[in-house]
Amino acid sequence: MQSIQASDRAVSSPVRMNDSIQARSNVNILIVDDFPDNIELLAFLLSQQGYTTTHAHSGSEALRSIEQRLPDLVLLDIRMPYMDGYEVCQRLKANPKTQEIPIIFLSASDETFEKVKAFDLGGADYITKPFQVEEAIARVENQLTIRRQKIQLEREIDERQHIEAMLFESRSLLASVLDSSVDGIAAFRSIRDEEDNIIDFQWIVTNPVMAKWVRSHTEALIHESLRNFAGSQPFEPLFEDFKRVVTHGQVLKKEFLYQSHSYSPIWFQIVGVQLRDGLAVTFRDITEHKEMELALQDANQSLIQLASLDSLTQVANRRRFDEYFEREWQFAFRHQKPLGLILCDIDYFKLYNDCYGHQAGDRCLEQVAAAMKATVKRSVDLVARYGGEEFAIILPDTEVSGAVKVAEEIRSAVRRLKLPHKDSLISSRITLSLGVNTVIPQALDEAYEAIAAADTALYQAKADGRDRVVYCPLYS
Ligand SMILES: [Mg+2]
Repeated sequence: MQSIQASDRAVSSPVRMNDSIQARSNVNILIVDDFPDNIELLAFLLSQQGYTTTHAHSGSEALRSIEQRLPDLVLLDIRMPYMDGYEVCQRLKANPKTQEIPIIFLSASDETFEKVKAFDLGGADYITKPFQVEEAIARVENQLTIRRQKIQLEREIDERQHIEAMLFESRSLLASVLDSSVDGIAAFRSIRDEEDNIIDFQWIVTNPVMAKWVRSHTEALIHESLRNFAGSQPFEPLFEDFKRVVTHGQVLKKEFLYQSHSYSPIWFQIVGVQLRDGLAVTFRDITEHKEMELALQDANQSLIQLASLDSLTQVANRRRFDEYFEREWQFAFRHQKPLGLILCDIDYFKLYNDCYGHQAGDRCLEQVAAAMKATVKRSVDLVARYGGEEFAIILPDTEVSGAVKVAEEIRSAVRRLKLPHKDSLISSRITLSLGVNTVIPQALDEAYEAIAAADTALYQAKADGRDRVVYCPLYS
């Protein structure tokens, strides 16, 4: 048992000794006594423990020494000629530079009043001569430990104050950014069910602009539910977007129409980014910009329509016809679908104008165009004014029989208008001649030939006596 303890000590003791001797040699203890033997004895005891000591034989020498180098501890004799230990202590305590140095008084006297005075003046402890070695060392180490802990505590307090100051600064900065922003800013934390699915979001940060939009105050919103808080319910459509930001880390960028009972609709541009188990979102009011954009889109749409309409008859104009026929020709070629085309002409229209005047002629064109539009019902079909009194109808994906049928229907529809034409050489009413061509395009650049074939059919219809439908194939 003893041998184990001995070997234990042999291994571990030198390490501990070395450490503490290293630490103690950095500690400087000033011994002040007018009696050199006392200094010598104390210096010997302390140096055996590894401490560094400096010495002074009078109060004034002690003050000079301290001015040159601040000690970690002062052992101070009370009874000294000229300047006693009490006065030295008072001076040290009066100076901010030295007031924190612990002082242990040394005295031969063991009388109570001296101890009380020593503590009153700020002494940390009191050692009575002759010294008990262990007691003296224990009291010195005690004071040094207290001193170290005090320094450590002061350092920690300093650090904490520094951190608090930084925290305060960053909070103030955040608050001023939030308060002065013209955008709505909010941060939400996810609320999850037992299976870890996000079922709601909780407001954790917001700013005055955002709070105003949901008719609340920044403080009142914190911890509220996004889905249950009445003011934030108009944001419900964003719920799935918010979830994607959190679960996939995707950045959310979208325009959103906010419709609440309290405000006229607001267009927001929304940007959301993941923030731990939640997200931060900014809402920018782009209503004005958006309304301008929509108005511009409407205006553009109207312009496009205007540019493609015949102003008199309100059917497509020749420009639109050319564009549409070209497009449909390419489509029919690629997909090998039949494309139907009808060209038609009001019979003896020149005589009509001569007889009834140009204004009546215009009314006649309007009515014929309206009858055609009413007859051609599919949205893909296009009725266009091809020239003067000539019209064209494009019938995508239409076989010969279908195109001829539409042509016959148009002819009947115009007859049913019963527009009088007393100078017509074939009837007392307005009549139409119609040429039909239907073709599955065999080449991309034969669109013109298809129109020419329909024109040939129209010519044939006129030659055959007008008021009829004639079909002419492009390829035979
Ligand atoms: Mg003395």
